[in-house]
Amino acid sequence: MLLSVMSKVLVTGGAGFIGSNYIHYMFDKYGRDIRIINVDKLTYAGRLENLAEIADRENYTFVNADICDREAVERIFAENEIDRVVHFAAESHVDRSIEEPEIFVKTNVLGTAVLLNAARKAWEREDGTYPRDKKFLHVSTDEVYGSLGETGYFYETTPYAPHSPYSASKASADMLVRSYMDTYGFPANITNCSNNYGPRQFPEKLIPLMIKNALQGEKLPVYGDGLNVRDWLYVEDHVKAIDLVQEKGRIFETYNIGGCNEKTNLEIVNTILEVLQETLEENDPRKAFINDGLIEYVEDRKGHDRRYAINADKIRRETGWTPETSFEDGIRETVRWYVDKLDCSSRGFGV
Ligand code: NAD
Repeated sequence: MLLSVMSKVLVTGGAGFIGSNYIHYMFDKYGRDIRIINVDKLTYAGRLENLAEIADRENYTFVNADICDREAVERIFAENEIDRVVHFAAESHVDRSIEEPEIFVKTNVLGTAVLLNAARKAWEREDGTYPRDKKFLHVSTDEVYGSLGETGYFYETTPYAPHSPYSASKASADMLVRSYMDTYGFPANITNCSNNYGPRQFPEKLIPLMIKNALQGEKLPVYGDGLNVRDWLYVEDHVKAIDLVQEKGRIFETYNIGGCNEKTNLEIVNTILEVLQETLEENDPRKAFINDGLIEYVEDRKGHDRRYAINADKIRRETGWTPETSFEDGIRETVRWYVDKLDCSSRGFGV
């Protein structure tokens, strides 16, 4: 079933990294045939600047609210005939979850419960069935599966074994979504995606942090031996996958999404240094200090998972999705974006 004319999509966390890229992608693809309502609490990670180009569209509405606020969420469903929910809102940084786990439980678990309940109340018919056009997509992570050794992949059937408070909170939210499907026949999908990179990410995660620090001549902190492996996916390929799951995926199914692009953290940092050298103008004084002398090995993250790698055969087979941006192109785009946008005099992005 293709997105019907003027489908109303409730996006949560749309001012964050992946959510804002999703909103841009959806307006580029569907134009006026879609209405997006974006609910975001605007935590440190949420930036309305990520959406500046689309903020004035007549088919876009921003609601500044916390997904844990039941009244606010129910009001959104009461005032808008929401057809689809794409749920990104979360506390998303593992290091912060180690420092302050409770907010992760609150937003990621309780917030998901509030949303599920509001959607169910709005959508469920008296006979317990749901209209065909109602769909809830819960955006989750490969981190719920735990850590791999040198070989093997995460499949949709891999048992959950989260290690950090972040991944435990995401795993709990996934379980709640599953319970809604099983208990109420609630029309949902779960996607578990590998590490994303690309424009509009708050500079605390590996790639934007390294770009920002290098541009400022600051140390590039690398955890442990730098050999932890992640499977990197360009953010636009992730948001395309989310759209395809809602368009072509089977309801009630989980889909793994991954780039088939495993890199150690050290490889990532060295690539960023090379691409920065290529990207900066010949006469840019920063070229003099951007080199691997900035790398500093720091004490490993507590409970640091060694390797993540996704098997994405199911989404490829069932929806035709495939990652379209190579790592070489994606990292160049990303570095270019931060070089243009980053205001190196502050902690945030450009002004
Ligand atoms: P992000 O931290 O960049 O953005 C999160 C957004 O949620 C922000 O705009 C923030 O203001 C908002 N938010 C936080 N708490 C909220 C609350 N209580 N109510 C309303 N809004 C709230 O995160 P991201 O990297 O864009 O990740 C989005 C989703 O994708 C998350 O669910 C994350 O678990 C998942 N995910 C991320 C990655 C990745 O590599 N970044 C990979 C796989 C899955």
